[in-house]
Amino acid sequence: MGKERVAIVGVGLTGLSLLTSYYKNGLKDNVEITCFDSEESFGRGFPFREDSMNVMLNLPASNASYDYEEPFDLISYLDEIDFDYDTYIPRPIYGDYLHTRTMETIKNLDAKIVYELVSSLDYCDIDETFTVTTVENNSYEFDRVHLCTGITDQKDPYDLKEYDNFINNVYPLKDKLKIITSEDSAAVIGVGLTGIDVARYLIDELDLKKVYFFSNSNIFPTARGEDQDIEPIYFTEDRLYSKIDKYGFISFEDVEDLFIIELKEHGLEMDELLEKYGKDFYGLIKSLDLDDELSKLQSMFKYLNPLYNIAKYFMTTSDKEKFNKKFGDFIKIFGGPTPLTTAEILCEAYEKATLIILDGVDDIRFNHASNMFEILDKNNRIIGKSNYVFNATGLDKTMQTQKDRRLLINDLIDKEIASIYKDGGITVLPETKTVLSPKYGNMDKLHAHGVLISGVQANNSYITTLERSCDNLIKKTYLNTCIKEYCKL
Ligand SMILES: Cc1cc2nc3c(=O)[nH]c(=O)nc-3n(C[C@H](O)[C@H](O)[C@H](O)COP(=O)(O)OP(=O)(O)OC[C@H]3O[C@@H](n4cnc5c(N)ncnc54)[C@H](O)[C@@H]3O)c2cc1C
Repeated sequence: MGKERVAIVGVGLTGLSLLTSYYKNGLKDNVEITCFDSEESFGRGFPFREDSMNVMLNLPASNASYDYEEPFDLISYLDEIDFDYDTYIPRPIYGDYLHTRTMETIKNLDAKIVYELVSSLDYCDIDETFTVTTVENNSYEFDRVHLCTGITDQKDPYDLKEYDNFINNVYPLKDKLKIITSEDSAAVIGVGLTGIDVARYLIDELDLKKVYFFSNSNIFPTARGEDQDIEPIYFTEDRLYSKIDKYGFISFEDVEDLFIIELKEHGLEMDELLEKYGKDFYGLIKSLDLDDELSKLQSMFKYLNPLYNIAKYFMTTSDKEKFNKKFGDFIKIFGGPTPLTTAEILCEAYEKATLIILDGVDDIRFNHASNMFEILDKNNRIIGKSNYVFNATGLDKTMQTQKDRRLLINDLIDKEIASIYKDGGITVLPETKTVLSPKYGNMDKLHAHGVLISGVQANNSYITTLERSCDNLIKKTYLNTCIKEYCKL
């Protein structure tokens, strides 16, 4: 039998993880791989393209290797290129690293590269083959396809897309923000890591004097403290699995118990932590004290993030809702901290009233006479005015707002090859990451990965979760083994 013809559509972190797994598992002679992506994103992915050196990866370099089984690989790479850094590295440097490892792995696998986006996918159920067609109308035939295209569009909560000075996709910041001068004022919607990147750039690099900053909840992440090695004792993979009942469910109460006991074991109290750090921007300011309990908790999240995924996978929909209600804000505050330098810049700007945190924003409208955006509270009172509005509201996992980049997904949905999952992204079987098609049923040679399946695979933006998940799938598909007894994740 000839080699299996495999397409990897989209080569960001997930595409690289798949390539790495094919190579590490000795499958070079079994497959003939072709990778598709635009040249600017190839081997980097959307978040790690060329950009300002002030846009930082939110994980310490010690936690961001491309291969979860070689955790110090990134550190070795930074030594090799003689790059001087302090814990965090700029995202473009991380992109260079991923790109280097991608090209090496592609060479090792003798894989092919097509520097084009894919615009459509067709499936012939007679000979069970896929036809991949690119935007330049080149077509290729495959036996297996991995979709790794990510999700890039954001929600547009105030319906502002039609206005030129509404910057919807903010990356790369150095291109998207080059029209702005220090005389301008700006509003940034969304206070997560993207919002923080934008606010920092506007203040630190473009020297704006007035930046409004808000979200619907104003839940800010904390500043990252010292990394400590604290492994969970109770909230562990084994204990979680032991709580699964014979019908395949874990109750919210069991998850909650394990988590609360875990916190107690380390002298941490959830309510106290929320009281101290959960109060809007004051929580971020408070976190600059970097006390030991904060560092402990943040460090533990390195282990907790992938475990939430397990917990969520085995919960009913209503238990997932309870989980989000109880732990959603907690995870936002402590689970993905912001680099300390960035937090310091924002807090200093806040002290100087350059950064203005707005509460109770109800609407934003564009005033054609003044050419300014007006930010309104629920009584229709203007509480801020700005020339520019930046959208940092987070990925639109429902994919209702996407235009060009989701071209391929639109095509798959239109042909009923794929469908949107209720929690976002597209629907796949968790164990095999195979696409569930309304037309063809379970497509056992069409897989989707990464951010594209973040509804099914909750909390999967964590780098090692993506890597391990790809490796599990490759092991299971080709070698009929996987890392854990339950290799659903
Ligand atoms: C703005 C932003 C910042 C982030 N920052 C961090 C961070 O600091 N730390 C962290 O852990 N996580 C971060 N994340 C989460 C991040 O998404 C994941 O860690 C990871 O990069 C996701 O990998 P992916 O391969 O699934 O998607 P992506 O990295 O988005 O890669 C998808 C790739 O598919 C390509 N593609 C899209 N459509 C097509 C098509 N039709 N044909 C061919 N190719 C296509 C794109 O060009 C892209 O290269 C960030 C996410 C975003 C959006």
